[in-house]
Amino acid sequence: MAHVAVVAFPFSSHAAVLLSFARALAAAAPAASFSFLSTAGSLAQLRKAAAVPGNLRFVEVPDGAPPAKVPVPRRMEMFMEAAEAGGMKEGLEAARVAAGGDRVSCVVGDAFVWMVAEAAAAVGASWVPVWTGASSALVAHLRTDALREDVGDKAASRADELLTSHPGLESYRIRDLPDGVVSGNFNYVINLVLHRMANRLPHAAAAVALSTFPGLDPPSVTAALTAVLPKCLPLGPYHLLAATDTAPDDDPNSCLAWLDRRRPRTVAYISFGTVAAPRPDELHELAAGLEASGAPFLWSLREEFWPLLPLGFLERTKDTDLVVPWAPQVDVLRHVSVGAFVTHAGWASVMESLSSGVPMACRPFFGDQHMNARSVSDVWGFGMAFDGPMTRGGVAEAVASLVGGEEGSRMRASAQELQAKVVKAFEPDGGCRKNLEEFVNIICAP
Ligand code: UDP
Repeated sequence: MAHVAVVAFPFSSHAAVLLSFARALAAAAPAASFSFLSTAGSLAQLRKAAAVPGNLRFVEVPDGAPPAKVPVPRRMEMFMEAAEAGGMKEGLEAARVAAGGDRVSCVVGDAFVWMVAEAAAAVGASWVPVWTGASSALVAHLRTDALREDVGDKAASRADELLTSHPGLESYRIRDLPDGVVSGNFNYVINLVLHRMANRLPHAAAAVALSTFPGLDPPSVTAALTAVLPKCLPLGPYHLLAATDTAPDDDPNSCLAWLDRRRPRTVAYISFGTVAAPRPDELHELAAGLEASGAPFLWSLREEFWPLLPLGFLERTKDTDLVVPWAPQVDVLRHVSVGAFVTHAGWASVMESLSSGVPMACRPFFGDQHMNARSVSDVWGFGMAFDGPMTRGGVAEAVASLVGGEEGSRMRASAQELQAKVVKAFEPDGGCRKNLEEFVNIICAP
């Protein structure tokens, strides 16, 4: 019997994505057994969130023992150091013991945790990484050395130059590249992780799962990936893989009931994901712009930022709008009342919006968000991107246009075209279903 270890990157939204991926695999391969490896803290969070199928068990890996109150970047470093220093080997051994002695036959893992490739090889298992970002971002990471050589220290002065000599990146400017590729601190933990991952993938990965569907990425992006990676399987958006039924607990702030009382496609939904946050002055501009837009809004804003909102904002808007610390985003975006999504353009958010046919206004902050925003506005055309921090006028105009303007209808039409393609890819004989089947065959191979 196949014993598949699924390894999470236990930070930001990554672990939840990997768990939902693992649940989908466990359902698709009921005869195989699955061990889901993450740190104790991350597993405690995940246990609260979702029931897991009977053939999937949780297994702890070392977190590097960070003392209390260590900032997240240092926690990441400590986790990575521990993983490299034997933590992943320990995890695979713990998985074997937890499975009654069944050795791990394949390691599926968040591509960020590249060091598990060696631990997998040491127990004779293959490594099948899961990329949770956009394909274009993966191309950029795989080309980091070539891009650094080309751009050198001119990233700022050549910021608006298109990357026409880099296959797959022709639609992007130097300034759209993910942080740490040609600019930023190359030694920042995530930038190092991605650079090392990119050097490892072409030699060590048996196949790579992509959170995209056949036909979404431009042919040049697909060609650039398949030129260096043995087997890329677009089988996403990942949030569509596992069956979801929203329980009342998933919507503690009654966002969906609130949306039920709004007219179709009139509401702007705002969220910047699990990490990004506008600075206080920008938060003020955004709040003022939302009020000025005239559209009702549902804003998922982490509670620590509420005191930074303009004086009287929550009181003034409470009858027409809703500000919540967390929203069931996938269901919110699927709701017929939502007409626009103001977002940081994290990859999961982009895919969730696209697969619901909702046009976006993107305010990218860091990481791959600039590249994703560029894809939304210039490659697929189902949204716009703010050029820098949001202003009240810019927000009001963008929201009004997306929910009621001509430009917005054009963008919605593009979003709905893509949505139709996602639906097709997930039909029983659609591209994603076939690729998932192939993926399951690869990971369950004897
Ligand atoms: N999310 C959510 N409710 C919220 C805010 C975020 O469900 O109120 C989810 C969202 O659906 C997405 C994830 O958190 O799946 C954010 O991932 P993304 O890649 O967009 O951004 P990140 O948080 O990684 O920057």
